[in-house]
Amino acid sequence: MVTFLDLKAINDQYRDELVSAATRVIDSGWYVQGAEVSAFEQEFANYCGTEHCVGVANGLEALVLTLRAWIELGRLKEGDEVIVPANTYIASILAVTENRLVPVLVEPDEVTFNICPDKAEAAITSRTRAILPVHLYGQLADMPAIMDIAERYKLLVLEDSAQAHGASLHGKKAGSWGHASAFSFYPGKNLGALGDAGAVTTNDELVANAIRALGNYGSRKKYENLYQGRNSRLDEIQAAMLRVKLRYLDSETARRREIAQEYAKSIHNPAIKNPIIADAASTSLKLHAFHLYVIRTAKRNDLQAYLSEAGVKTMIHYPIPPHQQKAYKGLKDQSYPVTEAIHKQVLSLPMGPTLTDEEVKNVIEAVNSFS
Ligand SMILES: *Cc1c(COP(=O)(O)O)cnc(C)c1O
Repeated sequence: MVTFLDLKAINDQYRDELVSAATRVIDSGWYVQGAEVSAFEQEFANYCGTEHCVGVANGLEALVLTLRAWIELGRLKEGDEVIVPANTYIASILAVTENRLVPVLVEPDEVTFNICPDKAEAAITSRTRAILPVHLYGQLADMPAIMDIAERYKLLVLEDSAQAHGASLHGKKAGSWGHASAFSFYPGKNLGALGDAGAVTTNDELVANAIRALGNYGSRKKYENLYQGRNSRLDEIQAAMLRVKLRYLDSETARRREIAQEYAKSIHNPAIKNPIIADAASTSLKLHAFHLYVIRTAKRNDLQAYLSEAGVKTMIHYPIPPHQQKAYKGLKDQSYPVTEAIHKQVLSLPMGPTLTDEEVKNVIEAVNSFS
């Protein structure tokens, strides 16, 4: 039996360090907005290569609060259009609509699954004010092209880096390309807390300060409220867990990449298309963090059932595109054929830093024996 992602095995690797970090917090008597959060923010900003990092409650809040901060700072207003990928996890779009901004969905590039810059540019209208690229499955969107478009049309760029901790392009990490970037530390993400957690990275001090206030009832100074804020804070225990796990993120990403290389090299089945992987020589150019290893096949449902029978657990990211969800009835008449085909054909194979060579071999054999 090969599990899809073994969270217990992942955290067991660092059990002693996690327990001692949790003990340190328990014994400190200080549980929100303390030394652990400040230290993690500093460490994660350094890791991403940004000046600021603000811890928040989760990844959706990181997206919501950044857009809200831009509204409070007068850079966005209700009704402005935000370009988002049609092919994404729904949270990216929820953050737009929650702020009463208008999502304009754009089809992905077939090869990378990420937003297509040409189609994004074609979708720009006089009301467009921002682009929200998602680094889907752990691979950076075409950020040089997106930043170029943003500069030419004076648009804000919010990266959704929830799946791309440590991924980079031309040596520049996810989280450092846009005007701000949202991260999730949901337990199953590449940098996962032991509960919910999130953060925003940015070089913009005004935005960092506004997000910090918005997530704390709109307050910078106790009992003085600048904004009608909310409670969206990263807590001390989760920050302490993340500080331990951040130290191992690069080695875990290296193991994910090794597994991906092995899958790509050894999965040969005419019914299946592997994702494109940069070879070792071009790794410095594009470092895919392999949050997910996603294959494409017209026989997706049959393959999933076959693999399940063979003891290989897989998942679908994602089965229903956002514009076909009941939550977005208003978008249901829009048509995104590339996105719709992707949702019918993708399958995520087991992927994680604790997967053994034996398990990888089992997955490969099972996939290759499917017809
Ligand atoms: C996980 C995820 C989110 C949301 O993060 P949470 O911490 O679960 O709120 C947002 N966007 C993408 C692309 C994600 O994968």
